[in-house]
Amino acid sequence: MRIYISVDMEGISGINGPEYVMRDGRWYAAGQRLMTADANAAVRGAFDGGADEVIVADMHGSSGNILVEELDPRALLLAGTPHQPRFPFLDETVDGVFLVGYHAMAGTLAANLEHTMNSASWFRFCVNGTPFGEVGIDAEIAAECGVPVVMVSGDDKLCEESRALLGNIETAVTKQGLGRQSALCLSPQYGNNRVYAAARRAVERLSELEPFALPETPSPARVAITYKMVPDADRANVAGTRRLDGYTVETTYNRLSDMYGGLWREYGVEKKI
Ligand SMILES: [Zn+2]
Repeated sequence: MRIYISVDMEGISGINGPEYVMRDGRWYAAGQRLMTADANAAVRGAFDGGADEVIVADMHGSSGNILVEELDPRALLLAGTPHQPRFPFLDETVDGVFLVGYHAMAGTLAANLEHTMNSASWFRFCVNGTPFGEVGIDAEIAAECGVPVVMVSGDDKLCEESRALLGNIETAVTKQGLGRQSALCLSPQYGNNRVYAAARRAVERLSELEPFALPETPSPARVAITYKMVPDADRANVAGTRRLDGYTVETTYNRLSDMYGGLWREYGVEKKI
């Protein structure tokens, strides 16, 4: 049984503000240790639940956040950028995806470090008219590979968003979001225990969980990005896109996976919190 673990940083146990997740932040080194600890908890849970192979993908910012020397030696680490597709080695031979340390979509009230892909310039991201966060984007990309997202961890708002979209998956609440830059945090050890337990249960329940399906017709996917500033929409309004209003640019893709290379080139890899 193969499990693929995508790890972001904003929803990690103990992390509560931008100083932990920006590469030049005061607490970034601590953020790396905390991220590695949650990743390890998910790896342990996966193996104890019955997995025989685990890939950990370091997906925050420009990658290179997880401390490879401290990672559970049974896991393979996918690190570095850029890579295309978004999730190399994720294919139909994988049995389930975990999204560890994720955050709620842009604009979610009282959600810790909420944003969607680019917090500096994106106000809202919609697929076929429905607002999506990164959980929705990655669940759809996994579904296009025929693989279900079976477990997520992050703050309470991220877990609510994930259950609303993906149903009865396993969730590990690592903290209660109070605002973009404030949260009521569990101790990292307690958070690790929750991540471990959810990961293990998710593997044990794999046969019950189905790949995600977009709310409307999954193919093609109409992707509308509403920018915070009109000049960003002006720049994104290239050939093949439609301008819906001053702030919003829409593009149609056959699959959501096809979107990612273009976004990567357009926005670079560092998100701004
Ligand atoms: Zn991130």
